[in-house]
Amino acid sequence: MQARKYIVVVGSLMSGLGKGIITSSIGRILQSKGLSPIPIKFDGYLNVDCGTMNPFRHGEVFVLDDGTECDMDFGTYERFLNIDLNGKCSITGGKLFSRLIEKERRGGFLGRDVQFVPHLTDEIKTWVRAVGEENKADVVLIEVGGTVGDLENGYFIEAMRQLANEEPGSVIFIQLTYLPALSAGEQKTKPTQHANRLIQSMGIFPRIIIVREGSPLTSEAREKISLYCSVPKGNIFDDPDLDTIYQLPIILEKQKFSEVLMGELGLKASNEDMKKWSSLVQKIIDPKDEVNVAIVGKYTAVKDAYVSVKEAIVHAGAHLNLKPNVIWVESTDLEGGEGAVKKAFTNIDAVIVPGGFGTRGTEGKINAAKYCRENKVPYLGLCLGCQLQVVEFARNIAGLKDANSTEFDEKSPAPVIDFLPEQKKIKEKGATMRLGAYDCILKKGTRAHEAYGTDKISERHRHRYEVNPDYRKALEDAGLVISGTSPDGSIVEMVEWKDSFGVSTQAHPELKSRLERPAPLFVALLKEAAKRKKKGA
Ligand code: GLN
Repeated sequence: MQARKYIVVVGSLMSGLGKGIITSSIGRILQSKGLSPIPIKFDGYLNVDCGTMNPFRHGEVFVLDDGTECDMDFGTYERFLNIDLNGKCSITGGKLFSRLIEKERRGGFLGRDVQFVPHLTDEIKTWVRAVGEENKADVVLIEVGGTVGDLENGYFIEAMRQLANEEPGSVIFIQLTYLPALSAGEQKTKPTQHANRLIQSMGIFPRIIIVREGSPLTSEAREKISLYCSVPKGNIFDDPDLDTIYQLPIILEKQKFSEVLMGELGLKASNEDMKKWSSLVQKIIDPKDEVNVAIVGKYTAVKDAYVSVKEAIVHAGAHLNLKPNVIWVESTDLEGGEGAVKKAFTNIDAVIVPGGFGTRGTEGKINAAKYCRENKVPYLGLCLGCQLQVVEFARNIAGLKDANSTEFDEKSPAPVIDFLPEQKKIKEKGATMRLGAYDCILKKGTRAHEAYGTDKISERHRHRYEVNPDYRKALEDAGLVISGTSPDGSIVEMVEWKDSFGVSTQAHPELKSRLERPAPLFVALLKEAAKRKKKGA
């Protein structure tokens, strides 16, 4: 193994420049060179994790195998790198401060006043080094959340400055920036120059600058950035608008990114392989056929709330050489009844009802499930989408007219979905759901078993409710197929219709879908969608 290196990506000027995608692309490029990178994300907020954050404000809550509820960027890392991360890779202000304060209470700093420097910054460096060591990583790839100049991430940046000082030659800083252009089209570098000064005032000297902009970086702009920000022209990279985010590693490599980065860090390549990645990207950009997939949700105005679902569709499409057009359907719009659903689902080849919390929009999702069952539209339910498929079946087939989940109607006379037993006594809200990867045993001969092609699977979860065991028999007797259960058989993990493709899971298989390893249920759904389209149904 080569001596471990650290790459620190800092954003400047503004948020929303795609720092997570850049960090992931750098990781994927390093993998293609035979190196093993491990990503770490610094988030300055004082929440311990993202579990209690509203998707409207913060986008999707991503869940790891170990149950950590973390930032959406972890989804991007895993989708690009095709590795399973754990919660230690997410370093938040909340985690750091609680560690430090606990240590102080235990007497860990007896006689001392506890300071940001050196105590907090030491804690960060120790943590970063430990993650590198535990993962035997060649490169620790650190994404600093937020933008340079934010109060929240100042202590992280300071810790990285110290790390660079302690391990000379092992740490490289990459600045991500944006070039605005005025109406005449001239790219303006001044904001980047100022941002670079700000970074330098913190004792940090970026060696690579990656530039987001609307049109390709001009040579004048490149020269100015080089001159004012003290980086060679060849160390400035263009990050233009792309057809798909998965193109970025290829676009950076075309500009000889790895040569520059590895040259700066003295890293040697032991491999050269971007072929499979490039062929998948090609299928995303230039697919043979297309299908229309509706996502029925309640946060559809903020697409980030469903980013993993959206990406899982892209991955499945790439493997089938299909372009899945996503049509966002607001669940409350389906509450008008069958006519409203029919209208919304015109030309739709498949429907996904994703996860969610709270009552709003649930009746619309139930109407969607009913329509799909009655009209044989392929349906995939994810967590809440699974629970509502069960509610719909209970109401309209099993004769349990007022069936519901106790999440939406505590007094339902037929609570077919109810609290998981262990959830009943829990009062605290942080990290208390059924979280993380759980095994599930699939029943042979079911669509779920066919999709996965195996008896035992493991998917990630994030829920408090389940199919009420008291109603299992009634539902099965009415014809609902229970295609997956927990290994002891106590929890219903998957259900499906007999007569058409309506497969649901209590888990979130979208969280484990990667470009190079698509989620089997999404592949199965898109195959069904393509079949339906072909038949002209
Ligand atoms: N609200 C439901 C539950 O807690 C579904 C959760 C989800 O879709 N992630 O069980």
